[in-house]
Parts: sequence; structure tokens; C-alpha cells
Amino acid sequence: MTLIIKNSLSSEKEVFKPINEGEVGLYTCGPTVYNHLHIGNWRAYVFTDLLKRYLKYSGYDVLHVMNITDVEDKIILAVIEQHRSLKELTEFYTEEFFKDRDALNIIPANFYTKATDYINEMVSLIKKLLEKGYAYRTSDGSVYFDINKDKEYGKLSHFKLSDLKEDAKGRLKKDEYEKENAQDFALWKAWVEEDGSVFWETDLGKGRPGWHIECSAMSMNKLGESFDIHTGGVDNIFPHHENEIAQSECATGKMFAKYFMHNEHLLVDGKKMSKSLGNFYTLEDLINKGIDPIAFRLWLYTSNYSTRTNFTFEAVNGAQTALERLRKAYLDLGNDIGTVNTGYKTRLIEYMDDNLNTARALSLVWEILKNKELSPAEKKATLLDFDKIFGFGLDSL
Ligand code: AMP
Ligand code: ZN
Repeated sequence: MTLIIKNSLSSEKEVFKPINEGEVGLYTCGPTVYNHLHIGNWRAYVFTDLLKRYLKYSGYDVLHVMNITDVEDKIILAVIEQHRSLKELTEFYTEEFFKDRDALNIIPANFYTKATDYINEMVSLIKKLLEKGYAYRTSDGSVYFDINKDKEYGKLSHFKLSDLKEDAKGRLKKDEYEKENAQDFALWKAWVEEDGSVFWETDLGKGRPGWHIECSAMSMNKLGESFDIHTGGVDNIFPHHENEIAQSECATGKMFAKYFMHNEHLLVDGKKMSKSLGNFYTLEDLINKGIDPIAFRLWLYTSNYSTRTNFTFEAVNGAQTALERLRKAYLDLGNDIGTVNTGYKTRLIEYMDDNLNTARALSLVWEILKNKELSPAEKKATLLDFDKIFGFGLDSL
């Protein structure tokens, strides 16, 4: 078995070789909990779940960590607008996140780390960057990362600072910005009136962490300074993951994550599904239209995680019909469970090893069901085995 995955660091397909044999440390940027997730977000988490399931299927011991971003610019805005406390708002949407996760049959991560539980770790990391000269304080008490000090800055997004800007010496307090505006970014944001009650009194003063440092501190705390795979959607590449790499590697002097894997976007009418464009659907919207979350999962498999996919109700309705067909055919196989068909298993592995080619892998399901030479018991065993990867929940029908 040779798993080939697309590594965003090289932009190439590479053979997956973990740092420690048989073990995989996996980190996923989790949701910013100020709203319901949309199904574009869920594409990112179904992709990670699929990857994790396949790594486990391949015999790896996977330690999966996902953060919950419960303090960040957008959350503070929501706290102020909705007159709610940070804790109440973020705990509510974290629970909603878990409900949707379960409806999609996503295996829970080993750890869900809340950013607000790791403020001390973030402060330590920022102090290390200050000591090493990669960060500096501004007159208001904030701390910024000096991107010009990091000779490798841009290595994930594949640009050279010198090509991008004549002078990237500005500073950005906002967490999200475009590559063209690459500038020093905030590690620690000194308290301002608009932050209201959201602040921590620390060695760095009164304030709150920047978004990027949150993931560096939590991932390294749980998985070590170097770990295997970091996942997220492509919009995380810049600036979030670029900044995570910069902060982490400058602080430790070691490689941060060996592989970065990014899912492409779910689109609506050719545009990224996003909260800001308002062109999004939640899982509840799908359920209200008679679509089982598992049918959405099945539909996602019809294209590769690394290609852009346009969402339409027509397509996902087709997946709903397919899921109903699959469930019925599976139940019609009876109660006996035979042995897994090795020919099909070999093909499944071949397809999944190819950067998780789910479309081809899925086609095997229909082939198995149609095959007159396999006994129902053999079909059942093979489908159950495959479902460890697909996660359609056939075992609980
Ligand atoms: P956020 O809560 O905005 O940080 O997003 C959570 C995850 O969803 C991140 O990994 C994003 O990259 C991903 N994401 C956001 N929008 C989309 C989309 N339209 N399609 C696929 N992934 C997305
Ligand atoms: Zn992150």
C-alpha cells in the first residue's frame, strides 16, 4: 500500500511517509463558532474525516486534533451585536457544530481544543518569538510578527516577498487579508474599547491573541513541535497556514507540519459558498428539503476533495436517490456476513491511495451490488469493510 497525497507545500503528489512509523499526527483548523456552519465548511470536515478513516483503514494509529476558534475578530463583533457573552455565544455554536458533525457520521477528533483554554501556551510562544527577535511590540502594547525576518515566508503560498511588494513593512491587525497585502501580522492584540469584556491579563499585557497563533499553540501542544498532516480549506493557505508555519518554525527552529492538505471550495453558481456572500446553505437547509446529511456526504465523494465543485440541489437530490438505493440494496442482502472480496478490496485501495480518488472508489459499490458472481454474504462483508472509509453508517441500518 502506497498512499499518495497532494502536499500543498510542494504542490505535488507525494508518497505519504509519517514521521514515526505507524503513527499519524493530524491537525485540522476547526470552526470559528459565531454562527452555524455552512455546507462548504462541512466539505472541509468531511474531507478530513475521509482522510482519517482511510489512514486508520491503512493501519495507522491516528491522533486527530481539531481546534475550536472561540475568540477572534468576527466572534467579538457577534458578541457586541447580539449582546451575548463570549462564552454563551461560542458554547451554543460549538454544540450546534457537534450535532451536525454527528449527523454527517464524522468520527470525533481525539481532542477539540478551545482557543480560550490555551492562552498561556499562546503567550509563551509569543514570548519565545520576541526573545528570538522574530516579533516586536508596538506602542499600543500589541505584538507583531516580522515577516521580513523569516527567510522562508511564502513557502506554502509559493511566493517570494520580494516579488510581491516593494515594501512589506506595514502592519495588519485584522486576521484576514489577501496575499498582495502580505505584511506583519498581529500575534497579540492589545485591548481596545471595542473588545469590551473580551481580554486576558497576561505577561504581554491586557489583550487577546491573534487568530493565527491560536492554531500554532494548540497543534504543537497536543501533537509536538513537528507533526504529520495539517488540513483545512484552500482559503486557509494564505494567510492563516502561511502564518502558522512562520510562527511555529521560527519559534522552534524545526519543521512544523510535514504535509499540508487542502480541500477545494464548494461553489454556488461559480462563486465560493461563504457567509460573507450570503450564498450559503446549512445542513438544516438540506434536511428541510428532504436531503439526508449522509446523501450530502455521498455526493461529495463524486468529485475529488482537491477540485472545485459546484453545489446544486439537483445533484444532491440525485445523491439522495442513490443513497436510498444503496440502503435498500444493502438491507436486501440479508443477515449473513461472509468474507471480504479481495479483488474489490485491492481495487478500493488502489483508488484511495491515489490522493483519495473517491469517485472511482464509490463506483465499486455499484459494481459489487450488480455482480452476480458474489454471494449476498460476500457483498455484505465487502460493503461493510468499505464503509469504514465511506462512513455511510451501513452498520447501523
Ligand atoms: P471557518 O470557520 O471560516 O474558519 O471555516 C472552516 C473551514 O471551512 C476552513 O477549513 C475553511 O477553509 C473551509 N471552508 C470555508 N468555505 C468553504 C467552501 N466554500 N468550500 C469548502 N471549504 C470551505
Ligand atoms: Zn488554524
